[in-house]
Amino acid sequence: MKNQEKASISIMKILCVSIILILISGIGVMAVNTNLKDIKIILQNGYEMTVLTSKATINEILDENNIILNENQKTIPEETEEVKAGTIIKIVDKSYNEVQIAKVSEQGAETTLEELLNNYAPITEKIVVEQVEIPYETITKNSTGTNDDTENKVLQNGENGIKEVTYKVKYQNEVEIEKIQLSEKVIKEPVNKIVQVNKKITSRAGTTSRTTPSTVTTSSANGQIYKITAYCPCSKCCGKSNGITAMGTRATAGRTVAASSKFTFGTKLNINGRTYVVEDRGGAINGNKIDIFVNSHAEALAWGVRYLPVSVIN
Ligand SMILES: [Zn+2]
Repeated sequence: MKNQEKASISIMKILCVSIILILISGIGVMAVNTNLKDIKIILQNGYEMTVLTSKATINEILDENNIILNENQKTIPEETEEVKAGTIIKIVDKSYNEVQIAKVSEQGAETTLEELLNNYAPITEKIVVEQVEIPYETITKNSTGTNDDTENKVLQNGENGIKEVTYKVKYQNEVEIEKIQLSEKVIKEPVNKIVQVNKKITSRAGTTSRTTPSTVTTSSANGQIYKITAYCPCSKCCGKSNGITAMGTRATAGRTVAASSKFTFGTKLNINGRTYVVEDRGGAINGNKIDIFVNSHAEALAWGVRYLPVSVIN
């Protein structure tokens, strides 16, 4: 019985408090138009309360709400500051590093928050297709040197090709932060520029069948298949027989090869596993053709024509 009485008294108390609260908030609502403002107070333990106040400074608001700071506590913003409607007062430990939350409405802090958000900006990925020009190569062709005209002649004009490159691009805040190439596709092959260089002196002046014009193509030599022929110092192969290369060295079997000018003199080539040095040129030696120097015409004939992988040795 006693317990029941106690319970009913408690219920009465709660009702009374509720009614008072409703009245107060009613007055509050009515008074909003005057000077009252909504202030949120966050206590150190995380408890949040919203109060209506007409007071100007944080000190006064804390007093009004019977909130007493202990020695180790401070407020954000500072106790002496005036507050506007919507201000959040945070009660924190004095060691608390004042960051942004309580000061969002202040201008200086806004940038900090923005920066903070930037760091967490989501990364977006896009597949981007770009058209890229493929520059043409210039190939020089040594003429047989039968006339005195020393001017170079353009046999074919070069034209850039086009390739389509697909990238995966990562953006953060619309700023590109990573670009990975996924694939590329040649839309248009470049047309190589072919220049005929009239040289009176070439040790490998092509004659007979070697002078027949051929389709010229070039590309990097790494592991590419080249048409490999052989030549000796005889007049059939070289038009002369002094055995001096275009580079000025003495042609040596097992080392000397004639290659197009896309390989500078002295370039070391791995041809099917053996090392040779580009020391010579030849009228018909251009593009994907290489001529290997051998000691006798019989050996050159025996070699015939072979198609072998060639790569540059760095
Ligand atoms: Zn020969």
